[in-house]
Amino acid sequence: VAYLIVFHVIFVLFVWTYWKSIFTLPLQPDKKFHMSYADKERYENEERPEVQRQILVEIARKLPVYTRTGNGAIRFCDRCQLIKPDRCHHCSVCAMCVLKMDHHCPWVNNCVGFSNYKFFLLFLMYSLLYCMYIAATVFKYVIKYWTDELTNGRSKFHVLFLLFVAVMFFLSLMFLFGYHCWLISRNRSTLEAFSAPVFQNGPDKNGFNLGFKKNLQQVFGEEKKLWLLPVVSSQGDGHSFPMRMLCESQNPLLANEEQWGDDGLDEENHVSDSSDLVNEHRT
Ligand SMILES: [Zn+2]
Ligand SMILES: [Zn+2]
Repeated sequence: VAYLIVFHVIFVLFVWTYWKSIFTLPLQPDKKFHMSYADKERYENEERPEVQRQILVEIARKLPVYTRTGNGAIRFCDRCQLIKPDRCHHCSVCAMCVLKMDHHCPWVNNCVGFSNYKFFLLFLMYSLLYCMYIAATVFKYVIKYWTDELTNGRSKFHVLFLLFVAVMFFLSLMFLFGYHCWLISRNRSTLEAFSAPVFQNGPDKNGFNLGFKKNLQQVFGEEKKLWLLPVVSSQGDGHSFPMRMLCESQNPLLANEEQWGDDGLDEENHVSDSSDLVNEHRT
C-alpha cells in the first residue's frame, strides 16, 4: 500500500507535467513587434538592402530589442513579418515565431519555449523519478526471478520488461535533464548553446547569465512553493530579458561578483564598456 501511494503521487505529477508540456501553446511575439501596414509597404518596395536594413533599425528603435544577426542587422522574420524579440526564433514545424524558443520537441509534439520551459523541465524531472521508482521497486522481483523463487511464471516477462524499459528511459532522460540543468545555470537556451546570441558589441554566450540564483528564478519564479508544480511562475513576459551588461552598469556590485575574472583593472574596463553600451541604447 505504501508503494502504491508513492507510485500514484509520482504518476500524477508525471502525467500532469507531460500534459502541460504538450498542451501549453507556444507564445508568439506581441502585436507591437509586427510590422505595420505602412512599414511593410515601405520595406517591400525598397530594393536596396542597406536601406531595407535602415528601415528595420528605425522600426526597432521603439522596441526593446538588443540582439542582432551575425552581421549586426536587426533580427527580422520574413515569414511572420515581424521584428524578432530577443531570444525569439522562428520554428519551421510550428510555422511561427516562438518566444524564447528552446527547441521543437518531437516527444511532446510541441515547441519548448518561454510558455512551457518550466513544465518541460519538471516533466523531465518527474519522468526520471518515475522510472527510478519503478526500477527500484521491481528490482526485488528480478532477483527472485533470477534465483527461481518466482512462482507465477507469467509475471516473469512483465518484471523483466518493466526493469528494462524503466532503466533505458532513466538513462536517456538523465543526460537530457543534466544538459538542461547546465543550460539553466548559465541562462542559455538550447539554440543559444549552439550559437551565442549576438549583441551590439558582438556575440556573448553569457549575455543573459545573471548568476545561478537569478537564472533559476527567471525560469521557476521567486515563490519556492511553486517551483515543483507545473503552474505558471516564470519571470517576465518572454519579450525582453535582463542582460548581464545592463544589470551590471545599474548595479556595479554585480560586476564584482563572479563573471569578469580576478583582474580588478579589467573589471573597470568592462564596466565602462557596458555603460557605453547603455548610452548607445538610449541614444
Ligand atoms: Zn517567424
Ligand atoms: Zn515548434
